[in-house]
Amino acid sequence: MTDAIDVLVIGAGAAGIAAARELDAAGLRYRVLEAGRRVGGRAWTEDDSLGVPFDRGCAWFHCADRNPLRVLADEHGIAYGDNPALVYHVGGRFLDDAEARALRAAVAGDTERLCAAGRAGRDVPAAELLDPAAGHAPVRDYLLTAINGVPPEEYATTEAAADDDSGQDWVARDGIGTLLERLARPLAIDAGRPVTAVDTGGARVRVDTPDGPLTARAAVLTVSTGVLAAGAIRFRPALPPAKTRALAGLPMGVAEKIALRFPGNPFPFAPDTYLVVQPGADRPAFGFHLCPGGHPLAVGYAGGPLARWLGHQSTETARAFALDSLCRAFGERLRAQCLAATRTGWLHDPLTLGSYSAARPGAGAGVRESLAEPVGGQLFFAGEATDPVDFATVHGAWQSGRRAAREAMTALAG
Ligand SMILES: Cc1cc2nc3c(=O)[nH]c(=O)nc-3n(C[C@H](O)[C@H](O)[C@H](O)COP(=O)(O)OP(=O)(O)OC[C@H]3O[C@@H](n4cnc5c(N)ncnc54)[C@H](O)[C@@H]3O)c2cc1C
Repeated sequence: MTDAIDVLVIGAGAAGIAAARELDAAGLRYRVLEAGRRVGGRAWTEDDSLGVPFDRGCAWFHCADRNPLRVLADEHGIAYGDNPALVYHVGGRFLDDAEARALRAAVAGDTERLCAAGRAGRDVPAAELLDPAAGHAPVRDYLLTAINGVPPEEYATTEAAADDDSGQDWVARDGIGTLLERLARPLAIDAGRPVTAVDTGGARVRVDTPDGPLTARAAVLTVSTGVLAAGAIRFRPALPPAKTRALAGLPMGVAEKIALRFPGNPFPFAPDTYLVVQPGADRPAFGFHLCPGGHPLAVGYAGGPLARWLGHQSTETARAFALDSLCRAFGERLRAQCLAATRTGWLHDPLTLGSYSAARPGAGAGVRESLAEPVGGQLFFAGEATDPVDFATVHGAWQSGRRAAREAMTALAG
């Protein structure tokens, strides 16, 4: 019976679901093997923790004006909002509109300098081109680190240049995890079936799982670079050196959330406002998505070293840290209004081992294309890390799954 399978898809995150839909639409015989008990991977909406939907992973349709998942959200009844308002609380007060505009322009100027360097072929850490003493540096570095999962010292100028961000960031009100769950419903997915080995030595690909092996004419691999680098899947023969070099060049950055539940919207801002609080020298700048999708939450978002630190704290400590920052902006009265908290743990999750890929400075401009390169006409690579433009996003993962499925179909037809 397993000989009837054309393509095995490994992983049921955005890339795996997109690949499976593509194969399904083309009438191929496929099966998706997912290690976890749920589909969606890093797209995960849940309401068990706080009683309202909370996206533990992706929440924003980045590049929403050209995002294929945003289009699918329309078809599947998933509502979304508009670009967030950005507000800043710096040194004990909220910046007025003119100050906020000046800060945004200073950050944009720095970002453009990084892009220009990358475009000119300079593959260096962003930190080399940023002034650490600039007045806007704490907010800039907070944003850069949260968005990319790595601090300026580990963020490559080539990444800044490659990232074709349209600047349209719209929040999925019902959750991107909810959307992916709906998209996955008609598909043939075996959840709770981890892949432990992939053998491309024979005429058919052989994939080992604790429930026994499966074979197929081709396989699409979508697991994170964190999982691949940890050796959770054995490859026979070993992956070629170019592939292992690409993997080494694309480690996982870290981003974690701490979500605080309130009885209603306690903030003097519309839902989906993004607030950055920069209290002073005693605390790092920290940001919050306020009332995401209209839900009564404040979602603190940490990247890089701060996320790693948070990941090692108890939920209570993480909650206290986030509340301390929020209270700097809104006053101590807020503390007693916080009903509950939950935090994410992507860094320690064995099925991701980090949040999203970030090319190491010096890894080279084509490193993501190298990771995407098929092996031996049988093994095809997808996942956010393989998208040369929209890496580290859910729509990049989606596009990569469609691309890898098409590559597999072309190879099978040849
Ligand atoms: C905190 C956080 C916030 C984010 N915010 C945004 C955002 O707002 N907007 C945005 O666009 N992107 C965001 N992202 C990034 C986005 O979520 C990811 O880029 C995207 O979901 C990755 O999809 P993927 O299919 O490549 O990988 P995954 O979602 O990781 O899918 C891979 C799947 O493989 C499974 N797997 C692992 N090992 C095995 C194995 N051995 N056998 C079988 N299956 C296995 C995993 O369980 C997983 O389901 C965020 C990510 C995080 C962590």
